[in-house]
Amino acid sequence: MTALDFKLSANLTWGEATDSSSKPELVAMNRIEAERFKKQMQHSATTLFQPVRDKFGALTCTSGFRGSKLNPAIGGSKRSQHMKGGAFDFVPRHAGLQEVWEWIVYESGIPFGQCLLEGYGANKKPRWIHISTQVGRDPTYCDQVGYGPAHALAFVSHENIAAERAKRGVWPGLGDGESVA
Ligand SMILES: [Zn+2]
Repeated sequence: MTALDFKLSANLTWGEATDSSSKPELVAMNRIEAERFKKQMQHSATTLFQPVRDKFGALTCTSGFRGSKLNPAIGGSKRSQHMKGGAFDFVPRHAGLQEVWEWIVYESGIPFGQCLLEGYGANKKPRWIHISTQVGRDPTYCDQVGYGPAHALAFVSHENIAAERAKRGVWPGLGDGESVA
């Protein structure tokens, strides 16, 4: 069994990435299931979570791996990448959700499958950021950017994403020092 303080990346532990505050009774089972996704979780933590942590400081991981019991119990999608250790939900402790989301999408160059503002409640404001990996995902469904309530997610078009990236002078995929101009 993996120790709870095992570091998936510099600032994300196994304990945090396999926890559930709303379904504590399912956490022990969830951690057993998570073992076979450990490598994927390390990769996701290193490539998705850690770059955001390095830029903005502490992040609270509100959901990481969700196995076959936990995922349906919290209402997760049947095809959720949380079930394969390929997604995290988090809240920045020292920066705004919108600011962090825009940086990930338009400036970071992080190779995400989806980056979504989620958890819209009665006040119509997001409560966390969902980020998932491109690994094992159809390229058609990579670089997807969305926001809004789960039942009415609005996606930003790839044209608009590209335009905004160009405006900010950043284009993921180019090597260091290359300009878009
Ligand atoms: Zn999520």
